Amino acid sequence: MYNMFDMLLKTLHVDCLGKSIDDICSNGFTKVHARNHCAHFVSHVLGIRFGELCGNLPNEKNRGKGGITNGTGATIRCNELYNGLTSRGKWENRPAFADGLLIFVTPAGNVRALLQDGTLGTMGTDERKHVGIYFSGRVYHYSNGGNRVIVDPTVERFHDKFKGQYGRKNNVSLFFAVVPYDVYEPHQDVHNIC
Ligand SMILES: [Zn+2]
Repeated sequence: MYNMFDMLLKTLHVDCLGKSIDDICSNGFTKVHARNHCAHFVSHVLGIRFGELCGNLPNEKNRGKGGITNGTGATIRCNELYNGLTSRGKWENRPAFADGLLIFVTPAGNVRALLQDGTLGTMGTDERKHVGIYFSGRVYHYSNGGNRVIVDPTVERFHDKFKGQYGRKNNVSLFFAVVPYDVYEPHQDVHNIC
């Protein structure tokens, strides 16, 4: 029987793990053009397109052919990804069924105007922010340092890593966002990217 989450997990674990953004981005918006591909990776895998897209900016495919990739590709900015999804908030307030959720990490002060119940809020443009996809206790995400898709075996490991990178004094915190999978049709792009 068709199970979307089984397919998504297979895509992440079998098809994407170890791949670089060069294998993932159909527009060739790669290391040459940007340094941070966390949201870019997540959005290609899930077919998310809003805010700034890799196709709108200079990339390998549109070089010398101005505009031909406009409106194509995937969301590239972590804060636009968080702010663009309607169900979001602190990780401890996530829905009970967590597989397939986006997991964000950033200093707490970079998410403002959370509601009293710890939901919604707006993520700012602090460079210290990162996003991955949560699955069965693990976090799949793009390692900008290693230039490839990796998996952290636990949320704690993922969190600790970024506490170290972003500064332990900065209350580095986790946030979730729900991907409306009925709208985004995961895997749509994946056959030709991973
Ligand atoms: Zn792309």
